[in-house]
Amino acid sequence: MKGMKIEKAEKLGLCFGVRRAIKLLKEAVNQYGEIETLGPLAHNRLLVESLASLGVRPINDLKEVKGKVLAITTHGASPTLLAEIASKQIHVIDTTCPIVRKAQNTARELAEAGFDVIIFGEGNHSEVKGLLGHTGGKGLAVLNTEQVEAWVNRPSRLGIISQTTQTRPAFIEFAGRLISVFGPGTSEMRFVNTLCQVTQGQQDAAMRLAHRTQLMIVIGGSNSANASHLVAICSPIVETHLVETADEIDGSWLSAKQHIGITAGASTPDEAVEDLIDRLRSLGTSA
Ligand code: SF4
Repeated sequence: MKGMKIEKAEKLGLCFGVRRAIKLLKEAVNQYGEIETLGPLAHNRLLVESLASLGVRPINDLKEVKGKVLAITTHGASPTLLAEIASKQIHVIDTTCPIVRKAQNTARELAEAGFDVIIFGEGNHSEVKGLLGHTGGKGLAVLNTEQVEAWVNRPSRLGIISQTTQTRPAFIEFAGRLISVFGPGTSEMRFVNTLCQVTQGQQDAAMRLAHRTQLMIVIGGSNSANASHLVAICSPIVETHLVETADEIDGSWLSAKQHIGITAGASTPDEAVEDLIDRLRSLGTSA
């Protein structure tokens, strides 16, 4: 493996939305002492553990709140949930990413303008639950057109947005199928690109890198939507593995590889990326 090259994607890792949220949480901890977050700040175990050591504790449900200060995560929340929190006289630190906020506003505006809103995304993801909430009951979260076809009262005006971290090719393909299936019977279809451009930039950089390497390693949370999308983008091009920590690297993956590419999910701490590079070097490669 001597002489092998490790190359980082031009854009990777912790995004501005998560960095901003970490900053807000650190300021809040300094001011209030321990605080709770409704769900993990982002889908990365290392990040959540590092914040826990400062006094930021994730809870899964509003019923579990023990303190008086609660943070909304980067993924945002529905108006109903926010109203419920307000009724409990809990102080809120809102770290909703501005890009997610924009998608929430779009969902609300489409619903208010009379559109039924289709959200291309995973229905059980916290961001998508929040987006659905902003449609005021006029939304449906789907990942394929078959699920739209099962919509009982087929609407005549459709507004279509995406979960921010979906891939552009997948959204374009979904949009194309939606037009071919529903176009003829629908009076209006309005598509709004709510994809996160930070994520898109990282996905494009990962794809370019995958084309010139023999192995891609994605470091990110096993339950992170954007880390799994990076894997989905690189896998058809080159052998790709997802790891959460550097010690999950299997030395056999490096066998006969001259050029290794690395990328990282938007919630992966910088230190985790550096640990990964150190580990690869210790396995006999050179950067
Ligand atoms: S991935 Fe994009 S939408 Fe999500 S927190 Fe980061 S900047 Fe915001």
